[in-house]
Amino acid sequence: MNNNKCVICSTDSSQAPLIKFDFKGKEYHICTQHIPVLIHKANQLGDILPGMENVENG
Ligand SMILES: [Zn+2]
Repeated sequence: MNNNKCVICSTDSSQAPLIKFDFKGKEYHICTQHIPVLIHKANQLGDILPGMENVENG
């Protein structure tokens, strides 16, 4: 059973490619559409991923 979903839009891998990433020892997935958010606006994801608000954007 595959419960992997994009942390932002909940798209699963049947709908779009998902990229796996680790944060604070936990495993998350993000769809290709939202990878730029993770890269450039990571600190806007604090509501979804506690601690992410403290990440410095590149
Ligand atoms: Zn997404």
